[in-house]
Amino acid sequence: MFRFNQIFKRTTGVIMLAALFSSSVVFTAKAEEESGPAFAPPVNHTAAPEIGPGMSLKSNCVVVLDPGHGKTDGHYSGCHFEYNGVTYNEDIITMKIANYTKEYLEKNSNYTVYLTKDSSEVTVPLDQRAAFAASVRADLFVSLHVDSIAGNGTTRNAYGASSMSPRTGRFNNDVAIQSQEAANTILNQLTGLGLHNRGLILQDSKNGTLYPDGSTADYYAIPRYSQMYGLRGFIIEHGYINYISDLTGFLSTDEQLKKLGEADAKGIIEYLNKAGKSTFTTATATVSAPPVN
Ligand SMILES: [Zn+2]
Repeated sequence: MFRFNQIFKRTTGVIMLAALFSSSVVFTAKAEEESGPAFAPPVNHTAAPEIGPGMSLKSNCVVVLDPGHGKTDGHYSGCHFEYNGVTYNEDIITMKIANYTKEYLEKNSNYTVYLTKDSSEVTVPLDQRAAFAASVRADLFVSLHVDSIAGNGTTRNAYGASSMSPRTGRFNNDVAIQSQEAANTILNQLTGLGLHNRGLILQDSKNGTLYPDGSTADYYAIPRYSQMYGLRGFIIEHGYINYISDLTGFLSTDEQLKKLGEADAKGIIEYLNKAGKSTFTTATATVSAPPVN
């Protein structure tokens, strides 16, 4: 279906930071949200967006959905949790949510929707995902994830949905403001399903990485690359895989995942109906990658 498959065959570049955190949890790898090169490579904006089956040429907005994680070296790289004899994998959950979101968007809007990959068996390097979103001039770039937290019993107390978004007040401030607004619109839709709203998670680089204007870069790769490219882009975390009521109420059946996907789609439509196309996507053609530090 996608002619850009060659981009997605690269499965290297994801460093797994696995940590055992409970007897019932297999492993969690939080590296996806955090790792990757400091900045994505420059993007050639001359390529026109590709149009595949079901994608309308009349589409007025482009949405890129990024199903988080995927298999690396034969193993799923996202977080895992075993409950009542069933193992739940973030990689599979995010792929399903992305497909439901895409389905709803294509049915209820005239947007062009791309996924960064078409299988949970594949991992796409983080910089490639952002580069792809930039290459199709995405009006919104949403990376879909499920959270997990270390600890068990009384020490495990985080639950609900959140978004890793870019911080405002520095490099590409207007884009950051719009990203936060879009993320909050989606979070409000998820809250409508009954998920707790943990709000925006804003984190600065921990190793001194700077944006081209000398300001501190965002820590998480997707919002950082999005800021570099001038994309409205962020991560949405759809509850905690190892918080039992999040798992059993929102993440354990296809029906529940469909509701999450549709809530994402409704938030995307609500935001883009209000905000319209991004005015920044063409302006980023001159952005080049600074030295990694
Ligand atoms: Zn994740």
